[in-house]
Amino acid sequence: MKPQFVASYDTTRKTPRWVAWRLDASWFGTATRATSFRRDPQLPTSAGQARDEDFRNSGFDRGHLCPSADRTRTDPDNDATFVFTNIVPQTRASNSGTWSTLEDDARTFAQQGKTVMLVAGPVFGVTPQAIGTGVPVPLSTFKVAVVFDTSAASPAAVTTATRVIGVLVPNTTSVSGDWRSHRVSVRAIEQLTGLDFLADVPRAVQDVVETRVDSLP
Ligand code: MN
Repeated sequence: MKPQFVASYDTTRKTPRWVAWRLDASWFGTATRATSFRRDPQLPTSAGQARDEDFRNSGFDRGHLCPSADRTRTDPDNDATFVFTNIVPQTRASNSGTWSTLEDDARTFAQQGKTVMLVAGPVFGVTPQAIGTGVPVPLSTFKVAVVFDTSAASPAAVTTATRVIGVLVPNTTSVSGDWRSHRVSVRAIEQLTGLDFLADVPRAVQDVVETRVDSLP
């Protein structure tokens, strides 16, 4: 757990399972984007982590889950996103293209006064391609975004009317279009990952918001 995000990290795979964070306008400032990635200092040195060398000449970006641009309040806030517990191998087409369009729109929601609670992570195939010293490449990356109109963002504030967005973006060199063309139900992401999102929301409410595919503009 960090002030900037929470991560579940798989030290065998050397990728996060998921990263979760809150986004609202209070996180925006004038920090300069960090320039280097590093080991997450919160893990013991014996724990496996990806390294820069794993990505060098791999053809894959060091893809942030909690975006650098979501954490610009201070330089330390921005630096905190440049750790390998927040990074997955991602194609340029996804990282700088389709995947980034939801990152941009989530920041727009925050600038409008909304609060967005986000979880993102990788989805792996049975025998994933690996880069470097065995860092597996996800088949796709998922994101769950719960959009609240105000700062009152909590499990108790989720109703059947709450906007809940699920996306599953193929981690391919040919992925195109924006996030809207890659929407899925949150329940579908739960079935792919084995995770239970919105677990503190009453089951009856989960059953509505997680089985609906977002269709708003
Ligand atoms: Mn759930």
